[in-house]
Amino acid sequence: MEDKNNIRRLLRDNIASLAPYSTARDDCRVQMDIYLDANENPYPNGVNRYPSPHQTRLKEMLSVLKKIPSENIFLGNGSDEAIDLVFRLFCPPGRSSMVQAVPTYGMYSVAAAINDVRVIDAPLRENFSLDADSLLSKVEHDTKVIFLCSPNNPSGNLLDRDGIIRILDNFDGITVVDEAYIDFTEEESMVSLIGRYPRLIVLQTLSKAWGMAGLRIGLAISDKFTVEVMSRVKYPYNISLLNQAKAEELMRDPLSAYEKAEEIKSERERLATGLAVIDSVVKVYPSDANFLLVQFKDKDMAFDRLMQAGIIVRDRSSAYMCAGCLRITVGTPEENDRVLAVLSDKCASSGCAGSDADSSDGKASDAAMAGRQAGAAERCASCFRRTGETAVSVRVNLDKFRKPRIATGLAFLNHMLEQIGWHGGITLDVICFGDLATDDHHSVEDVAIVLGDCLKEALGNKAGIGRYGFSLPMDEAEATVLLDLGGRIDFLWDVTLHEPKIGDVSAQMFRHFFKSLSEHLCCNLHIKAAGDNDHHIMEGVFKAFARALRMAVRQEHGASPVPSSKGAL
Ligand code: PMP
Repeated sequence: MEDKNNIRRLLRDNIASLAPYSTARDDCRVQMDIYLDANENPYPNGVNRYPSPHQTRLKEMLSVLKKIPSENIFLGNGSDEAIDLVFRLFCPPGRSSMVQAVPTYGMYSVAAAINDVRVIDAPLRENFSLDADSLLSKVEHDTKVIFLCSPNNPSGNLLDRDGIIRILDNFDGITVVDEAYIDFTEEESMVSLIGRYPRLIVLQTLSKAWGMAGLRIGLAISDKFTVEVMSRVKYPYNISLLNQAKAEELMRDPLSAYEKAEEIKSERERLATGLAVIDSVVKVYPSDANFLLVQFKDKDMAFDRLMQAGIIVRDRSSAYMCAGCLRITVGTPEENDRVLAVLSDKCASSGCAGSDADSSDGKASDAAMAGRQAGAAERCASCFRRTGETAVSVRVNLDKFRKPRIATGLAFLNHMLEQIGWHGGITLDVICFGDLATDDHHSVEDVAIVLGDCLKEALGNKAGIGRYGFSLPMDEAEATVLLDLGGRIDFLWDVTLHEPKIGDVSAQMFRHFFKSLSEHLCCNLHIKAAGDNDHHIMEGVFKAFARALRMAVRQEHGASPVPSSKGAL
């Protein structure tokens, strides 16, 4: 029986037998003194050398962030390049078709037309949800690829994960899930499914939440065979040296991109609320992306009014089931206020569109103000530290819990740091790009240093905090963590581990982690733990630390003083 996961059988014959162009640098991956192999100009000006055709460093960083091996990542000149490559790899021109769930992103059908591939539209339901069975019924004998976009452009909604899985289970060709907007949702990416479904290609991009549209860098995440063939077919140097370097620079501190994506998400809700109460608006569709699909009574009037005010939005009224709809990208708070002011009837009748709209008295502007009230001061801090060995970003908020965002390139350390976030009841984001090719030492140590610094900064003057410690069982293991944030540094470690490694982290690095942490947090930290299973012992230690931290940082009485007879900590 033919193995339906054998991707080679899905390739066009000419691609399967393609002997790729090998770049001069393919033959030599070690650093040399003199490069006379690629007919470059030898005089340095910053760009006289060809860029890495494999984009090795950028892929290593993305591998840490996405928690997938580099070999599963293809980088294209925008995800548009990856879309085009899907057709070039899998669809014989003039003899194949693709199915797309409509309405959707226009490049799929344009790239199909360029590659002489027939397009079959499979309508989403009226509320833009995915009807997997109806889509599967559209598949024809020559259908090679299905394109799904989730969150979908232009409707903004996520497609149902089970429906996508149903398509993967029942279609033998390639399924592409375009996740260009995935960073604006709480939903998990489909990337976790590529091991189970080698015929799945997930597209992502640095153009949206990462704020790098000008660099043109998109990702195709898939089985390593597909990634390898895409790399064979792409132009050898498809991402310029300057673009690779700039992306590496911006990605080194990913927390600021995450923070902006959070802001965009909260602005999306505020803009949606504000638009919904405007008379000329019929409907604001729910969105998991950084835009809103909005149906107007008279979309031309709305479009023109915005245009006259210097605001350009996208008319999507000709897209399937989008009659009367404009697609409005979420901007800065000030830009969104302008949109609300221009579209609100009050503003239109007083002729303020296009001017410095005073949005203080319309009902839309009331909505604009909603959610922008400053809350009570929260104890937050962000720290970034870069050395020759690591780049570490940490962000904490001691007064608000949010699902931890941890990426260190070490799966077990990720798992342990997540315990601190979940069980500490705090917001904890930790991203570390480290020299893991050397070993885990610098990454573990530097994460502890920056985490300690960041917690200390967030604690501020420590007014009202609880200070002390916690014990807990973890299956057969027991862990006790005593923590005093009083300011004196003492460290005690009485933990016996049995194996040289736990997961991908050296066992001896855990003592070093907590010692570095106590020095930088300036705390008294006593840790005792015992058990049979090293994973349980260490998970118990991190959870007990998290609970101790939770108790110690909690402000027990709003305005209570520093908890010390000295009056200062
Ligand atoms: N996919 C979708 C769904 C998009 O909306 C867009 C851009 N509008 C892209 C892909 C293209 O992304 P890139 O900038 O990476 O080519």
